[in-house]
Amino acid sequence: MDNFLLQAGAWCVKYGDEMEKTLFQKIADKEIPSTMVYEDDLCVAFRDITPVAPVHVLLVPRKPIPSIGAATAEDAELLGHLMLKVGEIARAEGLAEGGYRTVLNTGVDGGQTVPHLHIHIIGGRSMQWPPG
Ligand code: AMP
Repeated sequence: MDNFLLQAGAWCVKYGDEMEKTLFQKIADKEIPSTMVYEDDLCVAFRDITPVAPVHVLLVPRKPIPSIGAATAEDAELLGHLMLKVGEIARAEGLAEGGYRTVLNTGVDGGQTVPHLHIHIIGGRSMQWPPG
């Protein structure tokens, strides 16, 4: 976690009580506009500003967990909730039949650019493997 926060640098001051809001918290709190497709008490889902496919939604817990690697046992129920929402959102976006990809980028090598756990839900075209 310390390493991650060092890497996160300018984005995330501290993971704790006095943390500065992340970009995705500001979106969840409607301080930054987005195209929201789903929200509840625990999470929000909105369209990615730079979509890589016809459907590209980000599913984000309201809790600012920096990455999946920073989640703890305390987050188990929340993570389960997110997993179930993936299928619901994919169905609502018309992706259930054709299939889709879910991505959790983690840290620098994983290509993570926003240090607030988020699940990419990407679909509407055929995907390649391995990813770049
Ligand atoms: P990652 O690189 O996995 O951390 O993903 C961060 C994602 O956030 C990228 O796909 C960005 O296009 C997306 N993103 C950044 N800023 C915004 C924004 N204001 N609204 C919606 N998506 C955003």
